[in-house]
Amino acid sequence: MSKVNENFLELQDSYLFSTIAKKVAKYTEENPDKKIIKLGIGDVTRPIVPAVIETMHKAVDEMGTVEGFKGYGPEQGYDFLKDAIIENEYKNLHIESDEIFVSDGAKCDTGNIVDIFGIDNKVAITDPVYPVYLDTNVIAGRSGKFNKETGMYENVVYLPVNSENNFVPELPKEHVDMIYLCFPNNPTGTVLNKNELQKFVNYAKENNSIILYDAAYEAFISEENIPHSIYEIEGARDVAIEFKSYSKTAGFTGVRCGYTVIPKTVYGYTKNGEKVQLNKLWNRRMTTKFNGTSYIVQRAASAIYTEEGRKQIRENIEYYKENARIIKDGLESAGFTVYGGVNAPYIWLKIPGNMKSWDFFDKLLTEANVVGTPGSGFGPSGEGYFRLTAFGNRENTKEAIERIIKLYSK
Ligand SMILES: *Cc1c(COP(=O)(O)O)cnc(C)c1O
Repeated sequence: MSKVNENFLELQDSYLFSTIAKKVAKYTEENPDKKIIKLGIGDVTRPIVPAVIETMHKAVDEMGTVEGFKGYGPEQGYDFLKDAIIENEYKNLHIESDEIFVSDGAKCDTGNIVDIFGIDNKVAITDPVYPVYLDTNVIAGRSGKFNKETGMYENVVYLPVNSENNFVPELPKEHVDMIYLCFPNNPTGTVLNKNELQKFVNYAKENNSIILYDAAYEAFISEENIPHSIYEIEGARDVAIEFKSYSKTAGFTGVRCGYTVIPKTVYGYTKNGEKVQLNKLWNRRMTTKFNGTSYIVQRAASAIYTEEGRKQIRENIEYYKENARIIKDGLESAGFTVYGGVNAPYIWLKIPGNMKSWDFFDKLLTEANVVGTPGSGFGPSGEGYFRLTAFGNRENTKEAIERIIKLYSK
């Protein structure tokens, strides 16, 4: 008899996006004449830029020649891409080539990283949160039981982010070994400044903890004094792993490419207190379970760092940022309190009155025909909030906001 990994049974079914899809389908069926605008998805809509496409085509053609054919590549990624990453993303931050691991995306990396950590580590996440960090620790057996009343796992430390703390999580009040931070944040769209992030790095140094820093939205930062990489923070090289992705930056959600940075100065400990380089463990994990990101995709990613590529990608990011501005300004003019949207493609709005996230979802769907994401779907502290994304097209974004403004000015 084969036994299953019962940790899977401890996962809470996320009905979030399937419930949204069902509600929208039902409404559409009953109201076929209504035009629904979706600002709920976390997927991009702008096509991949020409510089990337050209390079990708060339790489495809290379593969069809005897001289240019590539079989298995280095599991950690090709030097041409890692060199471009160091030059463009980590200049003066002292990151070395063997500290970068190219992958097929940040979801996989933030999920797989749990492999290299011991089972009895205490994990802290923010609440609300990108569900991958939580669920992968549940699967690994690190979460304990789910408490239906609180909506939380008993062994996980939740760091609430809400309007009361201005979306800056407090340091854990108890000792934790692993801290997941995502800034600019999904779903709240908020950021930490250097001083705020420094406090977490100091905490990690004092407590021998590791920070797992998801910087997938780094390219959307426009304000000063907001760190683009955790390695801008003093001491982070000793305590932080950073995850990056080309998904939101360059429209690679379908192409698949990202990377993880693990400085060789980041250590974990054995039960006997011996230091172990996490870089070595991750390298072993990747060479054992991963055979490298496709050559074609890595060539495509490297084109992002050419002059043309950079310029074209910037235009797409600015397009989304303008959408974010339209959403934020529009909602504020209608009297909403709105967070995020300045350094991130997400707008996190406070729902007026004491309306619940799902009730607001229904109201927007049926009265404005606009779809967003209920904040409670990202964690108990998301209740009373609602996420809109800036990844739609301009025309629809404008129309959606006009409809919401109209609904609330009645
Ligand atoms: C979209 C997203 C990612 C990127 O995931 P990929 O697997 O690289 O597409 C990572 N983290 C967060 C928080 C995200 O929202």
